[in-house]
Amino acid sequence: MKKTDCIFCKIANGEIPSKTLYEDEEFRVILDVNPATRGHALILPKEHADDLYELSEGQASQVMLLAKKMAAQMKEKLHCDGLNLIQNNGETAGQTVKHFHLHLIPRYENDGQQLGWKPSEAAQEELEAVRAQIAE
Ligand code: 5GP
Ligand code: ZN
Repeated sequence: MKKTDCIFCKIANGEIPSKTLYEDEEFRVILDVNPATRGHALILPKEHADDLYELSEGQASQVMLLAKKMAAQMKEKLHCDGLNLIQNNGETAGQTVKHFHLHLIPRYENDGQQLGWKPSEAAQEELEAVRAQIAE
């Protein structure tokens, strides 16, 4: 279903123009309007899902295949040195647009970007407690 007040629904379905890299029946891939690096792109499903939790299994399986295809094309055409896939769910995780999107961020040596997290120390007991909490 399309959400009338959702900007990515409008972009994905062509009601608002975008710099489109790829389109098929289910997805549109666009350039991010405020790119982290040259070629920063977003994969948008045409069917609205707020986030990963709402994404259908069909969309979820297709999106990674498309990411793989786009990654190869971007590497070939942009000659990037690396690529980050980023996908934020929830405000706490940095999601600002509530329509699922997968970021494709080409990386270049000395591109000045700092994407990532601060690693911490964790005792084996804590890792085991977390494992049990999730897996059991
Ligand atoms: P999030 O923080 O939700 O993971 O990422 C949202 C992304 O969407 C941001 O990188 C932002 O620059 C991009 N964005 C927001 N509005 C628009 C828009 O109207 N057009 C395009 N192309 N990108 C947008
Ligand atoms: Zn939407």
